[in-house]
Amino acid sequence: MLDGTSPLLRVDGLRLTFDVQGRSLYALDGVSFEVGRGETVGLVGESGSGKSTLAKAILNAVRPDDGQILFDGADIAAMGPKALKAIRRRLQMVFQDPYSSLDPRMCIRDIIAEPLQAHRWGTRREIAERVAALIAAVGLPSEAAERMPQQFSGGQRQRIAIARALALEPDMLIADEPVSALDVSIQAQIINLLREIQARLGIAYLVIAHDLALIHQISDRIIVMYLGRIVEEGRADDIVGTPLHPYTVSLLAATPVPRVGAKGTTAMLRGDPPSAIDRPTGCAFHPRCPIARDRCETDEPMLTESRSGRKVACHYPGELSSPVKNIFQRSGVE
Ligand code: SF4
Repeated sequence: MLDGTSPLLRVDGLRLTFDVQGRSLYALDGVSFEVGRGETVGLVGESGSGKSTLAKAILNAVRPDDGQILFDGADIAAMGPKALKAIRRRLQMVFQDPYSSLDPRMCIRDIIAEPLQAHRWGTRREIAERVAALIAAVGLPSEAAERMPQQFSGGQRQRIAIARALALEPDMLIADEPVSALDVSIQAQIINLLREIQARLGIAYLVIAHDLALIHQISDRIIVMYLGRIVEEGRADDIVGTPLHPYTVSLLAATPVPRVGAKGTTAMLRGDPPSAIDRPTGCAFHPRCPIARDRCETDEPMLTESRSGRKVACHYPGELSSPVKNIFQRSGVE
């Protein structure tokens, strides 16, 4: 039995390879991190960085080749169906697209009640009361229960998806790009809702996104992934305030800054990520890195932890400064 200070989720040395026409695609390559109880960890990276595959592995939708995923000390990969069902009750998911994640043939009441019924939670009356409380908790009117998903906007649908995910009072929510399909003003409402829920319920979040500014708004810590590996990890303010890895700096430069009419720049991020099948030698980021040197093409940098707990995988950490750091600070996004 673990004490209350042990991590809720521990991912240790996770490796996952897909066979693509006889060649190996390294989707996850030695990924290790923890999420504490009540903590929000943001996972950021471009498409193909492995962040969504990581979420699938945690939910046991794909089996890793190597490594462990411990949820409250129990190994998810080693669980039978009964133990997995119990874990799913405590570990819920919110998906990116609120238009496809809700069954269009079911009314909102039935959508939210479904996980409660599947886990044989409470009597019919208790379920009805819980559904009504969840609808109110995500800021929707009580009449919403009778309506169908098509009658709601994208932001309202994401509120419904969150209500459904919260129905079984999970300890942790994994949210994969939870607001990227929504307008900017609605994004802020959903982020605020997630924060309020966390303050009330003490739930832990693993939030996956490609937008570093958005991840920063909600996260205690941020993990940056590139081609299946973690390249930087630290407190959210430190990652945005003093990014050490050139890839993190480039992601920040590519982020739309929080000012009306302002745009980010992709000028620092050269080209698309290479295929994970043909991973570059040495540092996998070297073909795109503005400060790459000869050593970077041959020597692979290891993820190294400093005394402050900051981790970075780069031979020259901190040498590339962030061109948008000051803009973020002036805009109060700190
Ligand atoms: Fe750039 Fe070299 Fe650092 Fe890789 S190791 S991020 S190529 S400076």
